[in-house]
Amino acid sequence: MTDVDSLIVNLAKELLGEEVLDVLQFLLNKKIEITDDEIANELGVKVNEVRKKLYALADQGLVSYRRSRDKETGWYVYYWKVNRDQINDILLSRKREILTKLKTRLEYEQNNDFYICPEDKTKYTFEEAFENEFRCPRCGSQLEYYDSKSVREVLERKIKELEEQIEKETKLGANKSG
Ligand SMILES: [Zn+2]
Repeated sequence: MTDVDSLIVNLAKELLGEEVLDVLQFLLNKKIEITDDEIANELGVKVNEVRKKLYALADQGLVSYRRSRDKETGWYVYYWKVNRDQINDILLSRKREILTKLKTRLEYEQNNDFYICPEDKTKYTFEEAFENEFRCPRCGSQLEYYDSKSVREVLERKIKELEEQIEKETKLGANKSG
């Protein structure tokens, strides 16, 4: 399997679960466009099941189809293929989403003081600790001030890494299309 193919498989697994992998793997191996009927026949599963998985994969941008009317039956036939070219765009937008989440989390860490229970390690904001008179609502232990410096440092490092990756990959994408 190529790097891109294994990326696609991993992404599909993460987003949709193991059950879509048979159809995806089949499509990856084919290298050419193929109809949902052909996939169903060759895999020996119901065509409705194949279509359900294909649409789920298409919703995530991992596969796409070309529609063509069958001259004899007059019905539409769907030819499916894996979106290998678009995989980088998909990964890039996923990285942007993660970056936004990390930044929100960092802001939260920066804007709050935290207290921690020494027994069960539950973290509380200042407000929560204050409301509970600085005692753990779960076990009653005296809460201790929690310095989130190390958490912030990890977040800052990850944010920087992601920003650098995104910048690099955005440039690569721009060069390719321009
Ligand atoms: Zn506790």
